[in-house]
Amino acid sequence: MRRLVMWDIDHTLMYAGGVGQMALGAAFTAATGLPYRETALMAGRTDRDIAVQTFTLHGVADYEPHLDGFFDVVVAEFLTRQHLVREKGHLMPGVPDVLTALGGWPHVVQTLVTGNLRPIAEAKLAAFGLTGLVDMEIGGYGTEDVVRATLVRRSLERATALHGEFSAADVFVVGDTVHDVTAALANGVTAIAVATGGTTAADLAAAGAHMVLDDLGDVEAVVRLLAGAPD
Ligand SMILES: [Mg+2]
Repeated sequence: MRRLVMWDIDHTLMYAGGVGQMALGAAFTAATGLPYRETALMAGRTDRDIAVQTFTLHGVADYEPHLDGFFDVVVAEFLTRQHLVREKGHLMPGVPDVLTALGGWPHVVQTLVTGNLRPIAEAKLAAFGLTGLVDMEIGGYGTEDVVRATLVRRSLERATALHGEFSAADVFVVGDTVHDVTAALANGVTAIAVATGGTTAADLAAAGAHMVLDDLGDVEAVVRLLAGAPD
């Protein structure tokens, strides 16, 4: 048995201080000259989805050819504020202990499935010393589609190419929104929801999560759940 754990970042592993939203706003104004009006629709969505919605909500058409350039500006704006992730943000309960403990099991592979742009995902992990606990090369990231389920599929393809076939029952998506849950279910893998974001445990359960945890604070139990009983 081999297990694959796909971690969401925001509100699952950490609160990153709202730096992503700041970077998006600054990049939007730099790219369009327009004042940025915050949208409340970020949680669980991919950065490509968020960018498309942001342009649309501000009445900007014909953004599609400029999206890649826009993402570069978002990353640059994020990196100038990188220090704020640690200043304003915090890790969720049980992190990094759960990731460190799972790293001790050779049959467990950990990666990221996040709506974040990859350089931003890397910067957020680095801010809290989590770099190296997950294999970022086989992750799924926010530029890859507006639909989060595609990110899970891409990550599964990359993990399979590197490690061989995983049984669907041994693949776990861990996240805090209904989008994480539906993305897991769309790929036939296990959805573990944590109620450390803005979505209630009841709503996560109603979305079809296989299991809902209040948080990752019971390290032993979470590790037992994700690592299972190795051969
Ligand atoms: Mg999240």
